[in-house]
Amino acid sequence: MSENQCPSCNNELDWEGEYVCKTCQVSYKKIGYCPDCEAELEKLQACGAANYFCNSCNELKSKSRVRFEFAAN
Ligand SMILES: [Zn+2]
Ligand SMILES: [Zn+2]
Repeated sequence: MSENQCPSCNNELDWEGEYVCKTCQVSYKKIGYCPDCEAELEKLQACGAANYFCNSCNELKSKSRVRFEFAAN
């Protein structure tokens, strides 16, 4: 199963600087939510790796625990 699926039609999203569904012709941004407090996480780009920081918990969250959702732009 793909990790980047359109929430409307479940087709795989293309990456073009943002996530795009060719079928729905909608672009999405990927938003991470804190697994502990449900707050929207801040994405920190460091050394080629993405880290997710929760401003509510005031700590970094492991990517494997982060819940991702696609929001239409
Ligand atoms: Zn779609
Ligand atoms: Zn949190």
